[in-house]
Amino acid sequence: GKKITRLPEWLKTTAVPGGDQYKKIKKDLRGLGLHTVCEEARCPNISTCWGGSSKSAATATIMLMGDTCTRGCRFCSVKTARAPPPLDPHEPEHTAEALRRWGLGYVVLTSVDRDDLPDGGAAHFAETVARIKAKAPSMLVEALTGDFAGDLDGVRKVARSGLDVYAHNVETVEALTPGVRDRRASFRQSLSVLEAAKGAREGLLTKTSLMLGLGETEDQIWDALRELRVIGVDVVTFGQYMRPTKRHLKVHEYVTPASFERWRQRALDMGFLYCASGPLVRSSYKAGEAFIENVLR
Ligand code: SF4
Ligand code: SF4
Repeated sequence: GKKITRLPEWLKTTAVPGGDQYKKIKKDLRGLGLHTVCEEARCPNISTCWGGSSKSAATATIMLMGDTCTRGCRFCSVKTARAPPPLDPHEPEHTAEALRRWGLGYVVLTSVDRDDLPDGGAAHFAETVARIKAKAPSMLVEALTGDFAGDLDGVRKVARSGLDVYAHNVETVEALTPGVRDRRASFRQSLSVLEAAKGAREGLLTKTSLMLGLGETEDQIWDALRELRVIGVDVVTFGQYMRPTKRHLKVHEYVTPASFERWRQRALDMGFLYCASGPLVRSSYKAGEAFIENVLR
């Protein structure tokens, strides 16, 4: 392929977090003991998400079950080990209490993959959601889970824990999956996760995300969207794949903002409830605002 050396203009962000809401949240966060993906990944959207258009729309992503993953996807910079440290049994309660005090409008809970645990951490995940909903009933909760190695009982347990949105990312089109995601993941398995979540509880929204710029073709994206619609996925997001280090997969292409906008339109035309799509979009991008605007209204 062609060699890409320079970042296009639209990806050069100064990422200076600002805004009073952001500063207040940042201050509140100190001492709560939460690990936000927003901060740890130095996400460029932090002031937009944490600020939100109102307090009820403020969104953040929290990492559960430690910082060490049992998988090694070729796009991801999370550290990996075969046997990460055991789960902290107090994490569900501590997370719920910290979130209650923080007072966010919308929280995305995510985690590393824990193939070392018999249930992949599904019970721990579900307990965390249930405790948040008990302490902060108006907080909207999205779970962004792994595939639980295809254990659909685990998926259903999380789907029935009281959450509002079940997210699981297919990450890329089917043809590129083997070279992009860990070998234990597959596009089909991910579809089965999303399908099981949708079927587990009436009214639960399902959501997935694809990175663009890995070498996927337009036809492959169309096929992925069609398959996702068939199993009732409600929300899709598109973002640019960014290479975290030289040891990770190369960027094949920087997709233009206009192309992202076209995919957003196409997704809406296909019947997705909403779609965030743009070079800097991450699956949790302004999720609170999107939910309030498209679901609650
Ligand atoms: Fe946090 Fe996700 Fe928003 Fe980034 S896009 S700031 S990770 S909630
Ligand atoms: Fe990263 Fe998730 Fe893959 Fe683990 S399973 S390496 S956290 S993308």
